[in-house]
Amino acid sequence: HRHGSFFDLLGPVSLEDRETASSHGELSALDRGHGIVDGIEGTIGNTPLVRIRSLSEATGCTILAKAEFLNGAGGSPKDRVALSMIQAAEEEGLLVPNRGDVIYEGTVGSTGISLATLARARGYRAHICMPDDVAVEKSELLRHLGAEVERVPVAPITDPGHYVNLARARARAHSASPDTPSRGVFCDQFESLANYTAHMRTTGPEIWAQTGGGRLDAFVAGAGTGGTLSGVAKYLKEERGLGSALRVVLADPQGSGLYHKVRHGVMWSPTEREGTRRRTQVDSLVEGIGVNRVTGNFEVGRPLVDDAVRVTDEQALRMARWLVEHDGIFIGSSSAVNCVAAVVTALGLPPGSRVVTILCDTGARHLSKFWKHAGALELEDDGAGKKEEKDGQRQ
Ligand code: PMP
Repeated sequence: HRHGSFFDLLGPVSLEDRETASSHGELSALDRGHGIVDGIEGTIGNTPLVRIRSLSEATGCTILAKAEFLNGAGGSPKDRVALSMIQAAEEEGLLVPNRGDVIYEGTVGSTGISLATLARARGYRAHICMPDDVAVEKSELLRHLGAEVERVPVAPITDPGHYVNLARARARAHSASPDTPSRGVFCDQFESLANYTAHMRTTGPEIWAQTGGGRLDAFVAGAGTGGTLSGVAKYLKEERGLGSALRVVLADPQGSGLYHKVRHGVMWSPTEREGTRRRTQVDSLVEGIGVNRVTGNFEVGRPLVDDAVRVTDEQALRMARWLVEHDGIFIGSSSAVNCVAAVVTALGLPPGSRVVTILCDTGARHLSKFWKHAGALELEDDGAGKKEEKDGQRQ
């Protein structure tokens, strides 16, 4: 039994007089009614929709952000997706708890963190393949969660060494091994439809309810797998019939091909295609959104995307600093891109419009990369400020 060694934790305690605990098993309906949730899974979803005061005042619109960093397992919207993919595999009988089954995934981090956490909670192990340019706090976190982590060189998706292909191959090799009855399951967040359907089932309906039955003019989000954008757009535009009354806008970091895909139907403008570097990687500090291929989950929602806003790293860094200084909101890079694009979108709409976007994860996941640059920006600004002062004094 996997709890067998539990009492070893406590050192020398006497359990002689103790009856076996009786309050295990299911959470009672009464407790549920009072808001007690069962395990870490119960902290997933139902995140607040936050009015960002400074951005609302500046734009004359209402800027609302879904605080997805408050999902309690892995701290991002990927909790919804990871839970949904694990449950799908459990229902198919592919994953069986406490059998030594391993969940394999290729991810830039958030999905891996959600999977590693939920794997622990449900009796599995996790094996995560990620590119080696991702902020180290993510792979460190994964290791502390007990996941096997492979950081691999950045490669094109056609290369067997690409982190997604590697995860798929590792899962296959595990299941093919005659040495173990356990299985390896490849989640495949980019292509698995359990991804966007998780957002269609949960994120979309939450936004609908939180805006008093769809009182919003635009939904703005970046795309990594495209699951969030597609799931929310499909729910609001199709299932709830908002159609063209809702403007769905892709927030795309510099170097990503999706912006041109949305606006012109091709991945890059002719001048951009000229680049000598093979476009395997998005040339940006931003992690988690922006890709140079059309994934299954993006394709599902692509016909519903009305426009795209391209956001530079500098804009994202300045937005992240702004939100800390004015709102006390400390976010990661993809959230900053979303907020820049939400502001640009709001400025193109009549005053008083309501724009919803996503805050994906906290800045703590990005200290060593994105926030290091944001910090440097501050020094640069101070430096420039002092120089101007000096110049001013001299005249
Ligand atoms: N932000 C972060 C930090 C992410 O890790 C991801 C997912 N890769 C996203 C945003 C984008 O979400 P999606 O995959 O649903 O497009």
